[in-house]
Amino acid sequence: MGDGTEYDDALLGLPGFRVVVVTEDGDELLVGIETIRRAAGCPSCGVIARTRDRLRVIIRDLPAFNHRVRLVWSKRRFSCPDPDCPVQTWTERSDELPDRRELSARAGRECTRAVGQAARSVASLARWLGVSWATVMAAVRDYGTPLVDDPGRVEEVNSLGTTMRAHSPSWSRRAALAERALERQATRRKGTMDEHLAATGVLQDHVAMANDDLEEACDRHKGIPAKLFANELDPNAERAKPR
Ligand SMILES: [Zn+2]
Repeated sequence: MGDGTEYDDALLGLPGFRVVVVTEDGDELLVGIETIRRAAGCPSCGVIARTRDRLRVIIRDLPAFNHRVRLVWSKRRFSCPDPDCPVQTWTERSDELPDRRELSARAGRECTRAVGQAARSVASLARWLGVSWATVMAAVRDYGTPLVDDPGRVEEVNSLGTTMRAHSPSWSRRAALAERALERQATRRKGTMDEHLAATGVLQDHVAMANDDLEEACDRHKGIPAKLFANELDPNAERAKPR
């Protein structure tokens, strides 16, 4: 399956991208994608750029057809043909597949919605997507903090329950606690897992998550990188770095 037809592109639902190939990797789907755009201007001088080469970036997306999904983006790296231009090379970018993130933007937004509105645990979302607990929590922080901080958000909410949650003192307090705990976590990134668990203890309260669940999520994540590089699409694929 997956021969780059318009049907594949419609199912992908990422404007500006098309599906190149779809393969199965165990229980997961690997979806090879690229941008539809064929020409780009140099961001400095505006000259039509050359495609120099491509990078492979793997990013986790929302599950589809009861399978976890990893997108493999064949990302163009451009060069400016003007030798005097201060910008020599640059790569494509997409807000929907942000740099240095493990999750697509829509997966991050869905995690934020599920935690904030549906009271789903971070651990359950990590299992659902096939990523680490820390990856989901980072997405909730990235996409959730602006919503909590935005005083105009109340005008965009059409659900009474959501409004009360977003503006209740307990939600704001929990968001603040989560933010502070994540800062501590970053400073301890080089420590042991035990230290990490202790540092994020307040977050465990926040999501009402058992230690066993967290350890299971971490254990599942440990096996993923090796599996990614063993896939048949590209053994040298560049993988988004965990934040
Ligand atoms: Zn240029």
